[in-house]
Amino acid sequence: MTEETIFSKIIRQEIPTPLLYQDDLVSAFRDIAPRVDSHILIVPNKLIPTINDVSQEDELTLGRMITVAKKLAKEEGIDESGYRLIINCNSDGGQEVYHIHMHLLGGQPLGAMLSV
Ligand code: AMP
Repeated sequence: MTEETIFSKIIRQEIPTPLLYQDDLVSAFRDIAPRVDSHILIVPNKLIPTINDVSQEDELTLGRMITVAKKLAKEEGIDESGYRLIINCNSDGGQEVYHIHMHLLGGQPLGAMLSV
């Protein structure tokens, strides 16, 4: 059985984390420990643990994550300066919360793509 994470409670608003966006497929809220000036998480409402678990039926949801990222980047005023979208997968990918989420990062120069 797939175990819920704290993100499911945020999506259902059982934890009062302010939502920046929510529709029938995805939700978005600020990262609790922002790494950059603008750090937002965009998550599917449905619990999908990792990118390894996505299926064809999730394609609409995954596409919505991108269009919501675009909308929020504009609202944050970082669409023209630029931003980065990241989805981590499993331990080498640095995934900590096993409910797929896309990081929207921006508001400052982000430098090289990777630091290992
Ligand atoms: P990842 O390493 O890709 O799994 O990223 C997990 C992210 O979730 C980290 O950036 C955490 O700071 C963030 N996070 C963990 N708990 C919360 C929470 N309750 N509210 C918002 N962000 C959270």
